[in-house]
Amino acid sequence: MTDTWLIRGARPLGGEPADILIRDGLIDGIGATTRPAGAQVIGADGLIALPGLVDLHTHLREPGREDAETVETGTQAAALGGFTAVHAMANTDPVADTAGVVEQIWRLGRQAGHCDVHPVGAVTLGLGGTRLAELGAMADSAARVRVFSDDGKCVSDAVLMRRALEYVKAFDGVIAQHAQEPRLTDGAQLNEGEMSARLGLTGWPAVAEEAIIARDCLLAAHVGSALHVCHVSTAGSVEIIRWAKGKGWRVTAEVTPHHLLLTDSLAAGYDPVYKVNPPLRTDADIAALRAGLADGTIDCVATDHAPHPVEDKETEWDTAAFGMTGLETALRVVQQAMVDTGLLDWAGVADRMSRRPAVIGRLAGAGGELAAGQPASLTLYDAAARDTVQPATHASRSRNSPFAGMDLPGRVVATFLRGTPTVLDGKIT
Ligand SMILES: [Zn+2]
Repeated sequence: MTDTWLIRGARPLGGEPADILIRDGLIDGIGATTRPAGAQVIGADGLIALPGLVDLHTHLREPGREDAETVETGTQAAALGGFTAVHAMANTDPVADTAGVVEQIWRLGRQAGHCDVHPVGAVTLGLGGTRLAELGAMADSAARVRVFSDDGKCVSDAVLMRRALEYVKAFDGVIAQHAQEPRLTDGAQLNEGEMSARLGLTGWPAVAEEAIIARDCLLAAHVGSALHVCHVSTAGSVEIIRWAKGKGWRVTAEVTPHHLLLTDSLAAGYDPVYKVNPPLRTDADIAALRAGLADGTIDCVATDHAPHPVEDKETEWDTAAFGMTGLETALRVVQQAMVDTGLLDWAGVADRMSRRPAVIGRLAGAGGELAAGQPASLTLYDAAARDTVQPATHASRSRNSPFAGMDLPGRVVATFLRGTPTVLDGKIT
């Protein structure tokens, strides 16, 4: 395949139409109109050009749960969603807590080639919450790990959390915390409130998230290190993060697409497709999360793509696994929740879904501007399209999308990774 592409008439960041010339993996120019010999042309009238999306929070499930997802299928799903880089969470089997495992995942990502895969290292050995993993060895490995998380579990021991924050300062790493006070969420199933009471399910109080976030902001400030808060889900959490940022502390945060759009009222029919950790909350929480993302208190959107096979999900609510898929719908949900509501423009979407997650993940060569000389990692998006979400058509090996059957705007038409198309006409190349 030729390595020169001319994208005609796309609108960079939703602005005025321009031609984008891609050559040798780089954006050669924007606004050029002559077609170089041998260039392949893509008609992109009306499509929005965005920098390749970056996900800080993806569960690829390999190694160990290849029945749910593999690096191959998960990165296909990512490319189809417009992503050119994902961070693969550490709660695999074996856990990504050594240089050997993170290098294995990094290599699988390179072999698949659909997007860059950056392994997240576990904070504690085996996610056991008692001893620090080999953070330095993972940082020094070929995978160059900079983000560490026990995601799925909270680093609830304050002393371990402090040590982890201290340790990663040496190589400018960041601890990404899954904020869930374990005692306050013992047996918890659904947001603590009217709906959990009505359904007779054990409630998951907002304070279980907020207490950990407040503690960790104080710890990060105390040791002068970098904290990233995973999947913020409550209005109170947004307030605490706003306060911590106001102090100038090194705290960043993400919100998932599903927490921007869905509430716990969906659980009324006990369908476990809506069971997720942290749980879906209320309309008031959604309003606060959207406002926080719009004003920059919440830095970015991260999918928390959490594939599960049917047998783990289609059971009674109490025994079903927590989690939802999200890579292939993320941009569409963000359009619905943030753009079509007037809260963010497309430049804002590029900032929250590409530039800022790349900065938080310490990624060079991702999240760049759409400008001459930059790596040609970008996505072409049709914001005027609209259709019903059908998980059966998704590349993800799992089908547990809470958006199934919903009518959503938008369609990812093409994705380029350093000048090579990974998706054309909405299909994997
Ligand atoms: Zn989590």
